[in-house]
Amino acid sequence: MPLIRFVVRTDLRRLILMLTVASVLVTLGNSYFAVYNVQRQLLVENTLEANQRYAAKVAESAQMMLNSAQHTIAFSATLLAGSGRSEASAEDEVFRLVNQSELFNSAIVVNNQAQVVAAYPEGTVSKGYVLPENTRQSFYERAPLITNPFHSVSGHTIVSISHPIWGEHGNYLGYISGTIYLDENGSLSRLMREHFFTDHTYLYVVDEYGELLFHIDPKRVGENVAQMPLVQKAMSRTEGSEEGRNSKGIDMIAGYAPVHAANWGVVVQRPKEQVMASLNEQMSQVFWRSLPIVLLTLVVIWFMALLISRPLRQLARHAENVNDKDVQQQIVTVRSWYYEAAQLKMAVLNAIGLLNDKIHQLDADSQTDPLTSLVNRRGMQRLLDTFEANKQPFAILALDIDHFKNVNDRYGHDVGDLVIQHLALRMKAFLRDQDVACRVGGEEFLIFLPNTSAESAMCMAQSLCEHIASSEMPKVKRITVSIGVSCLVDHVSTQDMDRAIKQADTALYEAKNAGRNCVRSVALKDPLSVAETEV
Ligand code: GH3
Ligand code: MG
Ligand code: MG
Repeated sequence: MPLIRFVVRTDLRRLILMLTVASVLVTLGNSYFAVYNVQRQLLVENTLEANQRYAAKVAESAQMMLNSAQHTIAFSATLLAGSGRSEASAEDEVFRLVNQSELFNSAIVVNNQAQVVAAYPEGTVSKGYVLPENTRQSFYERAPLITNPFHSVSGHTIVSISHPIWGEHGNYLGYISGTIYLDENGSLSRLMREHFFTDHTYLYVVDEYGELLFHIDPKRVGENVAQMPLVQKAMSRTEGSEEGRNSKGIDMIAGYAPVHAANWGVVVQRPKEQVMASLNEQMSQVFWRSLPIVLLTLVVIWFMALLISRPLRQLARHAENVNDKDVQQQIVTVRSWYYEAAQLKMAVLNAIGLLNDKIHQLDADSQTDPLTSLVNRRGMQRLLDTFEANKQPFAILALDIDHFKNVNDRYGHDVGDLVIQHLALRMKAFLRDQDVACRVGGEEFLIFLPNTSAESAMCMAQSLCEHIASSEMPKVKRITVSIGVSCLVDHVSTQDMDRAIKQADTALYEAKNAGRNCVRSVALKDPLSVAETEV
């Protein structure tokens, strides 16, 4: 049962400490994770939005580039239509297209027989070359066109931007096209490369069939990635953002936007891990910055737990040692600074007060004779101990009622008791404050007279004897007593005291023998000498 043992052994301070520390840690942990989650969501949302905007911006640039290319090609087509399609002007035009701007890598003019009439730069395709069927998209379309990527005769992956050439009477004369290489030398690649971020964000462009037109890794250009959900979104001619996985299984936060002129899609993405890395960095900063305050709070909690539990702890300790003499004094010094502790302190003090009173009462009772309220034998012993300890000189009167049996016989035991009580009252009234009367037997008493000489004791005994003899007692009217006197002046030891008591007894015996109602004394120094004093 380790739990029960722990609960029994633990104390209030530990409990307060554990409770508050636990609640502080739970609260802090909770807020930390709440902040983490909110920040995480915010960061993801911001990155989604940023990437979408970025994709839209790049798509717009690509759109502008394609529009410009289409305009250029259209203008060349118009010029060629007006020139009566002379070969010389076709050659001039392809030369101009490639060299005037950096848009096109090559340009060709094809006649209405699908035959190349002009091409630049040289080596692109030879003049007179008849286009094979699978590269006649622009030829058959007879409309402005941006082709899908394809492999050219010269071995490049290209897109071609073409415009038909119409004769004066609307007859089809062929077309002119400019090509853009999709490798690093092409204008599309250059445009895209301008947009690189440094924070692991990268972008790629796909055509309407999911084929890569641009990728950070040039080797991947031409690869079909249409099966990827993100690419499918980018191919859908809409703008948006979402979390997804790239082809290597890495989680990405991506934005996408369409290039309407060519049905392309631009995707901008950033690895989620990178996004989260900055958040983790932030959170670790939050942790280290808040650590001193947390530690300070814990120290304050520890101190407060100490302060709160201290009065109760001290009270509990003192309650354990309730038998200590000065326990009340110690409890009074406990600083009970709050209501419960103050009440508890008061209650403990009251309880100890009551307990002490009770103990004193019991103690007093145990030393008191119940019939007469005089000191009994036990009380007498304590008195003698005190005399011995203080080397207190004293005189002793041993007193016995004369013929008490007769009282009992004649008036009954109750009357006898009443007489004993009365006698006790008389004696008390007669004696001085410092004198102590003890009931040591049925109707036998020992009276101790501190600091009293043998002569004074004799005088007092004499007076007492006369006083009682002349006092009226209930029912029996008169009783007499016999008194033996002894005195202990110095050398107060247990043996001395026992001897003095015995001497008083002996003297009493003498008084009885002398006819009763009289006083006899024995001097301590001469135990056998008995001074007779008749009443
Ligand atoms: P004396 O002392 O003069 O020699 O004669 P006595 O009759 O007094 O003899 P003793 O002292 O020997 O007898 C004591 C009697 O006191 C015996 C008993 O009946 C009576 N007695 C003792 N204790 C009590 C008591 O508490 N109450 C009553 N009523 N009587 C008691
Ligand atoms: Mg007697
Ligand atoms: Mg007697």
